[in-house]
Amino acid sequence: MKSGFVNIFGKPNAGKSTLLNALMGEKLAIVSSKVQTTRHRIKGILTGDDYQIIFSDTPGIIEPKYKLHEKMMQAVKGSLEDADVALLIADVKGDLQEANEAFTSLKLKVPAIVIINKVDVADEETLQQAKTFFLQQPYCKQVIAISALKKKGIEELLNSILNLLPEGEPFFEGDNLTDLPTKFFVSELIREKIFYLYQDEIPYHATVLVQEFKEKLTLVKITADIILQRETQKGIVLGQGGRMIKQLGIEARKDIEKFLGRKVFLELFVKVRPKWRDNELQLREYGY
Ligand code: GDP
Ligand code: MG
Repeated sequence: MKSGFVNIFGKPNAGKSTLLNALMGEKLAIVSSKVQTTRHRIKGILTGDDYQIIFSDTPGIIEPKYKLHEKMMQAVKGSLEDADVALLIADVKGDLQEANEAFTSLKLKVPAIVIINKVDVADEETLQQAKTFFLQQPYCKQVIAISALKKKGIEELLNSILNLLPEGEPFFEGDNLTDLPTKFFVSELIREKIFYLYQDEIPYHATVLVQEFKEKLTLVKITADIILQRETQKGIVLGQGGRMIKQLGIEARKDIEKFLGRKVFLELFVKVRPKWRDNELQLREYGY
């Protein structure tokens, strides 16, 4: 029996969430083409006949401009410290030197597999160059080329992880896909829709807080607050005659119903709390 912690690390858009989804075969992390969607540490638990892997997807390296960002950076460091294996994921067509600097700065103490992602959009020469480049780096135990999107190389990656994982009993009973509370996932599903529906700074200034989660006989009743920083953002989120928020509610509800496997009644409220990003107390209140 093998069992342990594996953390996925990489710059925004390298494909961490997509990889986690490919590994888990379930929609666990939020995937978006805009950076910084994954503010939290999201864990998935993959249990096989003779192994258990606990994955976490960490936010990428960003400038700690706001207190929120500092918290994210702490999450990155924290999650790498308690891992058994690190997965360092790089976009094959991205800036390899930049990725290398980020990986080096982690000063890893655990074995690292460098994953070269998005091979579906690279030619053989580019791929070979990337492989050679990373194999020279001291932190790199192994290089594996994958396409997280097309689910290519996932099996090989899984085998490599298992090779590096310590012997041990499972940490979690049953086949729980995740140890995160359902409320959190629901708030992330709503936040994902905000990313798709609104432009510019809105997604970055919005946080979602699930206030009520009640399982009823025929459906689940969910009430959530969308918290914004400025009064002017409220009008944008609501839209003309409430058109946008209605759309948001419909789309988020569909995904939540798929996730929960139950009918959902979703109620959304828009609230304004100026400068919550810089307020340490509120950060704590929202669980960052
Ligand atoms: P994260 O920020 O590291 O979590 O990256 P995401 O998983 O959100 O992926 C960022 C973008 O890259 C998304 O648009 C993905 O669809 C895309 N992507 C991820 N993996 C692949 C891949 O293997 N091939 C291609 N072509 N695109 C990918
Ligand atoms: Mg992500």
